[in-house]
Amino acid sequence: MINIFLGAPGTGKGTVSYLLKKNCNYKHLSTGNIFRNITKRNTQIAKKVRDILKKGELVDDQLTFKVLLEDLEKYNLKKDNIILDGYPRNINQAEILLEYFNRHYKDLKISVINFKLPESVIIERLTNRLICPKCGKSYHKIFFELKPQKEWYCDDDGTKLIQREDDKIKSIKKRLEIYNKETKPLIKYFTNRDILINVDVNDSSEEVYKKVFEKCQN
Ligand code: AMP
Repeated sequence: MINIFLGAPGTGKGTVSYLLKKNCNYKHLSTGNIFRNITKRNTQIAKKVRDILKKGELVDDQLTFKVLLEDLEKYNLKKDNIILDGYPRNINQAEILLEYFNRHYKDLKISVINFKLPESVIIERLTNRLICPKCGKSYHKIFFELKPQKEWYCDDDGTKLIQREDDKIKSIKKRLEIYNKETKPLIKYFTNRDILINVDVNDSSEEVYKKVFEKCQN
């Protein structure tokens, strides 16, 4: 089964994915994490992707689908519970994905969870977010339940946490602008296909996790 997590940056898609992976063996595919790993390489593509991510812009649709597919094809799409976090990000990517599923997996169950959160909360969360560069887990500098046990170090692997380059206010504004222009139209697109479920995520991550888990089961 495919669970598409739709929502602006900072709405907690990664945190809920982490919990579903840890507790229920969901497979988590994040195009953002894939690209962040690519930026660590010493290649021309890595340099190009690094510049795009830093500016908060979108990587081109062809390259994005190619890197997604490389990971997606490692799984059994009919048996595994798969989360697509951050893909699709525009109508063209959605068309590419649905066309691929239609061609290769006719009766695949697909649901789209739309993470709804006010923009003021998103900005507060992103400016205080820290991530583990090794495993990708997100933390919050102030918010008690998401603070690391040891300040600035990942609870899971002890790596020093960093602030994402694109979690600086200039990139955040750009990413939200792109979300509103490119990604938001997907709400209508998936509603018209009757596969969209809205979830109010202005809540603790444990509560959001429970709500999303319940929706993923239906
Ligand atoms: P995220 O971790 O989902 O916020 O993604 C971080 C960055 O990776 C985005 O700002 C984009 O530059 C790039 N990215 C992630 N997913 C996509 C996608 N589906 N299409 C294009 N670019 C993407």
